[in-house]
Amino acid sequence: MIACRSAADIARMRAANQLVSQVLEALERAVVPGMTTGDLDEMAERLVRDAGAVPAFKGYRGFPATLCTSVNAEVVHGIPSRVRPLVDGDIVSIDIGAKLDGFYGDSAVTVPVGTVPARTQELLRVTRESLEKAIAQVKVGGRVSDIGHAVQQWVEAHGFSVVREFVGHGIGQQLHEEPQIPNYGTPGRGARLAEGMVLAIEPMVAMGRPDVKVLRDGWTAVTKDGSLAAHFEHTVAVGADGPLVLTAREVPVSAGAAAGR
Ligand code: MG
Ligand code: MG
Repeated sequence: MIACRSAADIARMRAANQLVSQVLEALERAVVPGMTTGDLDEMAERLVRDAGAVPAFKGYRGFPATLCTSVNAEVVHGIPSRVRPLVDGDIVSIDIGAKLDGFYGDSAVTVPVGTVPARTQELLRVTRESLEKAIAQVKVGGRVSDIGHAVQQWVEAHGFSVVREFVGHGIGQQLHEEPQIPNYGTPGRGARLAEGMVLAIEPMVAMGRPDVKVLRDGWTAVTKDGSLAAHFEHTVAVGADGPLVLTAREVPVSAGAAAGR
């Protein structure tokens, strides 16, 4: 059973998701060589709690931090480190969840640390674009598998591969709700999308082979071949007229005016 939310609940979900989006934007701007992912985690927890929200991952099945931070060959669920500094040329995926006013927000980006090679930039770009292609499939009457199909088509057309072991998910009063949303597959399958459903869509893409393993910490998933991996995530509601990206970066009116728009 996939929940369909009222307009009032979607508004509350937008608030939770705007919070995670704003925190993510602040973290993304803070990333510099020499800092640790533990520094990012500390910043994230402070920003979430100052906003009156609660970190969603901290304590989830024993996870120890506010963020999942996954560096280079780490795909998802990396544990922030206070000892390993980020270095120029790394990529770091930052995934954040928070609960505000009874509802969850969830979003992720992968960002370069300093300067990264062109093929790495392409991995980030193609993964982000695959999320955009996926979001375009979010419409009343569409099917869940249309989302993963769009991701897979775009990723494989650019010579990268889709990680199979982890999936997107419904989200609402729980962090993970039905349905599961794989990032690959045949279109036209699975549940039919209806107005008010809210989905966390999160392609995970490897530069090399898609196979992953979980490290002995019980959390960190890495590519078996050691190739780089990227991860982007938006939380999206099915609106009457198409997708409502609840984690979209909303440009403040003053900033838009200052830029002459
Ligand atoms: Mg997430
Ligand atoms: Mg998620």
